[in-house]
Amino acid sequence: MYLPAVPLRGTSILPGMIVHFDVSRDRSRASLERAMREDQRVFLVTQHDPNTEDPDINDVWDVGVIAFVKQVNRLPRNMVRVLVEGMERAVVGSFEKTEDYILAGVTPTGNESMDIFPASMKEAMLRSIKDLFTSYFTQDHNISRDVAVQIMESDDLEYVLSQIAINMPLPYERRQIILEAISVEEQYEALGILLTNETEVMAIRKELQEKIRERVDQNQKEYLLREQLKVIREELGEDTTLSDIDNFREATKKLKAPKEVKDKLYEEIKRFQNLPGQSPESAVLRGYIETLLALPWDKASRDRHDLIRAKQILDRDHYGLTKVKDRVLEFLAVRQLTGNGAGPILCLVGPPGTGKTSIGHSIAEALNKKYIRLSLGGVRDEAEIRGHRRTYVGAMPGRIVNGLKKAGVRNPLMMLDEIDKVSSDYKGDTASALLEVLDSEQNSHFEDHYIEIPVDLSDVLFIATANDLQTIPKPLLDRMEVIEITSYTENEKLHIAKDHLIPKQVEKNGLKKRQLVITDEAIADIIAKYTREAGVRSLEREIAEICRKSARKILEEGQKKITVTSENLEDFLGYERYSINPVNDEDEVGIVRGLAWTSVGGVTLQVEVNIMPGKGEFKLTGQIGDVMKESAQAGISYIRSVADAYGIQEDFFRNNDIHIHIPEGAVPKDGPSAGVTMATAILSAITGRKVRADVAMTGEITLRGRVLPIGGLKEKLLAAKKAGIKTVLVPEKNRNDMKEVETEITDGLEIVYASTMEDVLGTALVS
Ligand code: ADP
Repeated sequence: MYLPAVPLRGTSILPGMIVHFDVSRDRSRASLERAMREDQRVFLVTQHDPNTEDPDINDVWDVGVIAFVKQVNRLPRNMVRVLVEGMERAVVGSFEKTEDYILAGVTPTGNESMDIFPASMKEAMLRSIKDLFTSYFTQDHNISRDVAVQIMESDDLEYVLSQIAINMPLPYERRQIILEAISVEEQYEALGILLTNETEVMAIRKELQEKIRERVDQNQKEYLLREQLKVIREELGEDTTLSDIDNFREATKKLKAPKEVKDKLYEEIKRFQNLPGQSPESAVLRGYIETLLALPWDKASRDRHDLIRAKQILDRDHYGLTKVKDRVLEFLAVRQLTGNGAGPILCLVGPPGTGKTSIGHSIAEALNKKYIRLSLGGVRDEAEIRGHRRTYVGAMPGRIVNGLKKAGVRNPLMMLDEIDKVSSDYKGDTASALLEVLDSEQNSHFEDHYIEIPVDLSDVLFIATANDLQTIPKPLLDRMEVIEITSYTENEKLHIAKDHLIPKQVEKNGLKKRQLVITDEAIADIIAKYTREAGVRSLEREIAEICRKSARKILEEGQKKITVTSENLEDFLGYERYSINPVNDEDEVGIVRGLAWTSVGGVTLQVEVNIMPGKGEFKLTGQIGDVMKESAQAGISYIRSVADAYGIQEDFFRNNDIHIHIPEGAVPKDGPSAGVTMATAILSAITGRKVRADVAMTGEITLRGRVLPIGGLKEKLLAAKKAGIKTVLVPEKNRNDMKEVETEITDGLEIVYASTMEDVLGTALVS
């Protein structure tokens, strides 16, 4: 059949639907007029693309609906509003555009008879579509109850299908799908899919909405509760806590820190808020929050990379130390080239007062880094490094984290002072905690027990100092690049005093440069008679003392200028404290001068041996370590093996006791380097041959009398020179080390190299 057609844009009409729509296109209006003139029937078919202005058959869907036009209303601007009722589906066959309207050739598809289906099949379809509809309807409340009831009460499958399709609010494309389903079976299927789909979508949507609502509710609830709490607290006079909480929140918001840290902070602030203000837990938690807020998580200072400036600063602050400075500069250069971190840790090793800390300070200044000093001396408890868990009363973060907090930036220079003095006890392993701090592989997430969140130490520049290499735990030593600083000579001390210590102390004590003069002789006397040290710490103290006394004199006695000389030194510092331990006046039997190296520098030590009738026993007294005892025994064995050559009786060692004593000094001495000294003293005591009083010696001894090299040569020679020794016996194998010793020290000393005990005895014994 042929019917005037109206193409629809963005809508699709099903049989049974009664709808309004507006018509504006001329052709469509003409089609309508034509229909009204005939039997009021039009063919309505939906365009694929609503924007097509003048559609052809290809621009519309295959199936449309034959509709009855119930009403036509003219609107302004040539628009027409129509009310139509869909009658039946029809497939479009042709689409002919006449002069003014469209004539479509259509074939109505009126539903085929349902009788071909078995009743049970129909029943099954009916029930299942009703089931689907029920679950859909319980979620979507756009369908009126009455309609729903009508649908549910009907037994007519076709009616049910069409009513559901008509009443479901669907986008027109979906409705078109139903329209295109021509047979009942197809309609059933299409609608089934649609219902299932829609139900699912709605369920998901509902779930999402639920979640959002919950969240909003929760926030609202919290807000209300918080407001109430505020009022309660204010009533109780605890309003301060509240502003603290606000401050904490504010500070957290502003904090430059990883998300992890902020989350933790918010969590803890929330807990804090709910604790009563006066409770101990609240105080603990407050401390914790404040600590987290004070740590420099992502805050860093800008480093300066200027080696020339670094050299200038090192030179400005330190006299001498050329080698040390060179190595520091090399270290800095490598660090700059390789980028931060990763490299080894610098460790400055040397006696106290030799400028280790002070060099660290200069490095910090050169790199423009914050400087933090941690003294590790006497740290025995792992918790001092790693902190206590918060459950402890009075828990605190460890020293490292505390240092970081003090620095206020994540990349300070941290001086680990006296790393050789850490020890481990039952409270855990301090060294391994330190290892974690220093190891670049591990320290990017250092775990402090108190902080709980890993702290990144990888940008911290660690510099360690130590007095003695021997006592640094081995695994720590492996991670460090050691730079040794040796004792200063008297001349060096003199320069340091003149160029650095005196100006520093003069200024510190509020004096003017011209108000105080200390003559070179006076300085030399201070060094020699008032201090005994490898470094310059006591020297600085004595100078400070002079400055204080001078300040008083200037104020009290009105003196304009004070000059300190050797003569009036006593007025400032009192009687001289040390007299140099001079060489013995006479050559003696059984007494030999040895040289030892201790953590405070070189010392001379006197070895005394007495022989007395007895049962062949051997006794060692004085401040002596185990290694020293063993080398004494090696000495004795050696002497027994050469007894013949020195005319010692066979049974001598059976009938006599040997007593070795090392007097002088509370300084504990250990190490093998007194071997030759002890052997010489014993042999002298046994044979009764005298030992030269102006000879000192150092060297390790083997059972066969070979002399092995020793360490700390410079310090030992310095001590020998101070003691007025003329000849020093040094192991042959140390000959190369002598090149490193300044001539200032060796001048006036006769150095004799010994490779065997015979060489030693040849020089030391008075012939
Ligand atoms: P350490 O850390 O080795 O025990 P310090 O760095 O504390 O020694 O040094 C003690 C004092 O001596 C400091 O005031 C330091 O500036 C000064 N000092 C040490 N060596 C030198 C030097 N070579 N030149 C100038 N001053 C020095």
